[in-house]
Amino acid sequence: MPLRSPLYSQRSLVLTLVALLGAGFLATSFLSYYASRASIRDNIVNTELPLTSDTVYSEIQKDLVRPILISSMMARDTFMRDWVVNGEKDSDQMTRYLNEVMTHYGAYTAFFVSNTSLTYYHAKGVLKQVKATEPRDAWYFRVRDMKDPYEINVDPDLANKDNLTFFINYKVYDYNDRFIGAAGVGLTVDAVIKLIDKYQQRYQRSVYFVDNFGRLVLTGAEGGPQGARIGQKLGELDSMKDLISRLPKPHSGSYEYSVQGQGHFLNVRFIPELNWYLFVDKREDSALGEIRQSLYLNLLICLLVTLIVLALLNQVIKRFQDKIQAQATLDSLTELPNRRGFDLLAVQAMQEARREPKPLTALLLDLDRFKVLNDTYGHLAGDQVLNGFAQDLKSCLRHSDIVCRWGGEEFIVLLKDTDGETGRIIAEKIRQYVEQQSYTYNGQILRVTVSIGLTTLQPDDTLHSLLSRADHAMYRAKQSGRNRTCVEMAHSIHEPA
Ligand code: GH3
Ligand code: MG
Ligand code: MG
Repeated sequence: MPLRSPLYSQRSLVLTLVALLGAGFLATSFLSYYASRASIRDNIVNTELPLTSDTVYSEIQKDLVRPILISSMMARDTFMRDWVVNGEKDSDQMTRYLNEVMTHYGAYTAFFVSNTSLTYYHAKGVLKQVKATEPRDAWYFRVRDMKDPYEINVDPDLANKDNLTFFINYKVYDYNDRFIGAAGVGLTVDAVIKLIDKYQQRYQRSVYFVDNFGRLVLTGAEGGPQGARIGQKLGELDSMKDLISRLPKPHSGSYEYSVQGQGHFLNVRFIPELNWYLFVDKREDSALGEIRQSLYLNLLICLLVTLIVLALLNQVIKRFQDKIQAQATLDSLTELPNRRGFDLLAVQAMQEARREPKPLTALLLDLDRFKVLNDTYGHLAGDQVLNGFAQDLKSCLRHSDIVCRWGGEEFIVLLKDTDGETGRIIAEKIRQYVEQQSYTYNGQILRVTVSIGLTTLQPDDTLHSLLSRADHAMYRAKQSGRNRTCVEMAHSIHEPA
């Protein structure tokens, strides 16, 4: 018989249980995962990203508002306008003025470009002449032609080792409202870049600025998305294709998009002072990694619990099955194997005896005139005697011998490794022992005798033929007066000694 787990016999129970446990565990695990995910997403979209955006914005405002104010004052300054109107006579005066503004207000640079002479004055002297053909001077001609009173521009500063600088370019007019040049201060963007880097590292999010045309204008030290450099258009980046398809031009708001299956949350905010958009982007996995891990842990725990439940169930079913099997093969009154139990044991014993080969002796025992005992003392007294006899019978045998209640008041014994002669001695010992025993029931002394039929296993015997011979022998014992042992060998009959 193949060795199978007891669970196999209860497949439908086990499957139902596993399905129930699995469905319950999976439902609670995934429900709590999706609930946490929804609240984390909600928190990112509605709180985290807008907060980062607010902070960066207020930091920029703090850094930009003062320089805008200073530049506006420069543009209205009567000295500056008088000096230009009077023909830019002494450039030292302008240099001194610009130096004063720069040092007094702690700006990174201060400048004035005259529209008449196209001279670029700054705090340390005359820098150069601006030319319409020089790309680096394009800003001046742009400012000259624009409608707004000022612009904020980020450019490398020629006067300061090409450091990336925020320039406030203010238009200057004479007293007749004629454009006479551009003045302003510049401040390094290092502080803003440091701020961006701090946010990117600490909160694992990308922070960068994009202009109206979707061009990157300011990023952290390591560049924009996918390491994109300033000047690149977001639309040209592979990673932004999905986003750009829904956001062709920058627009304030919250967005979700994905890059190679990786979800992103994005907050876009328009910064009016800069005419730029601030992008704050967070990858979904960095935010959800932890709860995903707890989901996996949860599922692992569920799996373990299911396995433990199955192991326990296996044990319970096994114990239950063993008990049922024992009940099915044991006689409830004497606790000896019944006919079914005997069949299993006898087949095994016969095989063993043939294999070794060793002799095997069978005894069939039948209590004498048991009906009379029953009729005289009652059925319960009979039961008491049957049980007492069974225990006495067992006490006369070796542990390895097989004894069974064949039915009613009949018992069978198989004596292993025992020839007919030894078997007969043992049968006699039993018979005499039982004869001397007495059993008490309700204060009454009960006695019983037993008739025994004996035979030995022959090479061509089946269990049936073996027991038939024993039965014949027992019948003869009854016939010849009871309380005796009769032997029946194959083809030969031995009378009792
Ligand atoms: P014999 O010497 O020829 O064997 O006579 P007997 O009376 O023992 O034989 P018979 O087969 O006529 O009767 C057997 C009796 O055993 C009848 C039945 O009531 C009784 N008996 C069978 N099983 C039980 C049992 O479990 N408990 C009790 N109390 N009596 C039983
Ligand atoms: Mg009988
Ligand atoms: Mg009997």
